Amino acid sequence: TDPPVPSAADAPHSAALLERARRVIPGGVNSPVRAFRSVGGTPRFMVRGLGPWLWDADGEKYVDLVCSWGPMILGHGDADVLRAVAEAAASGFSFGMPTEREVLLAEELVSRVGPVEQVRLVSSGTEATMSAIRLARGFTGRSVVVKFAGCYHGHVDALLASAGSGVATFGLPDSPGVPASAAGETIVLPYNDLAALEAVFAERGDQIAAVITEAAAGNMGVVPPAPGFTDGLRRVTARHGALLVSDEVMTGFRCSPSGWLGLEGVPGSGAPDLFTFGKVMGGGFPAAAFGGRADVMAMLAPEGPVYQAGTLSGNPVAAAAGLTTLQKCTDEVYARLGTVAATLAGAVEESFTRHGIPHRVQWAGSMFSVFFREGEVVDYDDARDQDVERFGRFFHAMLRRGVHLPPSCFESWFVSVAHDDEALEHAVRAIAGSAAEIA
Ligand code: PLP
Repeated sequence: TDPPVPSAADAPHSAALLERARRVIPGGVNSPVRAFRSVGGTPRFMVRGLGPWLWDADGEKYVDLVCSWGPMILGHGDADVLRAVAEAAASGFSFGMPTEREVLLAEELVSRVGPVEQVRLVSSGTEATMSAIRLARGFTGRSVVVKFAGCYHGHVDALLASAGSGVATFGLPDSPGVPASAAGETIVLPYNDLAALEAVFAERGDQIAAVITEAAAGNMGVVPPAPGFTDGLRRVTARHGALLVSDEVMTGFRCSPSGWLGLEGVPGSGAPDLFTFGKVMGGGFPAAAFGGRADVMAMLAPEGPVYQAGTLSGNPVAAAAGLTTLQKCTDEVYARLGTVAATLAGAVEESFTRHGIPHRVQWAGSMFSVFFREGEVVDYDDARDQDVERFGRFFHAMLRRGVHLPPSCFESWFVSVAHDDEALEHAVRAIAGSAAEIA
């Protein structure tokens, strides 16, 4: 039986907090997609998370399918991570000097991702991609960067063109404040289109420092690379002396013990030169990294001339959280993530089919998203061609039934190993009820 469905206006405490927040924080949120602009209504202010569950300021309980946009792969409040964080914090919050925990975390990353010989730790995915681009430009002595429409690499000036989810949600083609000079060094191509890449390289190959791509796109909904696409990127960049940067901030340590690389394998024509990581590797704390070929990484200060730094880089508390999280990410964990995701996606397929709701589910490991359209989605144009309004109604139908989806149809759903049978049954019931409601 369907649980009682409260009214959407039933979030008075969140609404009051939002009103206060708006006075002191633009839009009341510290990252735009949290504001619910594309789905409407009041963003829920969270007070607590445990395992797969969240509780908001009004005492409502939700199955969390956002998982902090990826990091919370073990669910909320994992006891081992909590202990590691407490131990690290008891020894000091930050030193601005090297610590053993950074070495352990770097060793863990290097051991999981074969082609990565060295890493530099930073505090956010944005910093990781920004630094990787600077390094690629320093290494090649070139300035042009190629990215793909619908791929988001953080809010780096040069990469904030046609950047998927957050930006798509607002319908902004670009952001004011990004100088034409920064955007002018960026070439945006359609994802999964090797012919377009070949054409650009034929014309400007000697100016291109790097091609950056989401290892499997997750910021226009989930759009995996077509067979041969990653290999083609490697072949073309290598031929022209440009670096290939694989952004695994979202997919890293989530799609497999290494990331998307572990699922697709190293391309026949060779591994990417640089990788970026974030999210899971911080276990919910601010830790991210970029890394790759040792000869490229040797260009970084203090070994080389390319400057890059951070007061809180390698923060011991964040490093402890990330290291413990990764150590707990065993093969069994990835198997369970797959089961959880398959159960949820299967429920969507069944309920949407029963009610005649056009849909398409796409996958990258246990990351999946539901497009409100039919037919394969291979690029950003396809992704934008869906029923955004109907997604909004589905989102709110789910929220009222106690399931918190990402508040945008351009986002992956994220699951955790803590999503137990009780949480799954609750979510599956909500999917059935919500599909009936929006039919
Ligand atoms: N790269 C990818 C693929 C991402 O999904 C994100 C964030 O969602 C970023 C980079 C930026 O990471 P952060 O939000 O930690 O700056």
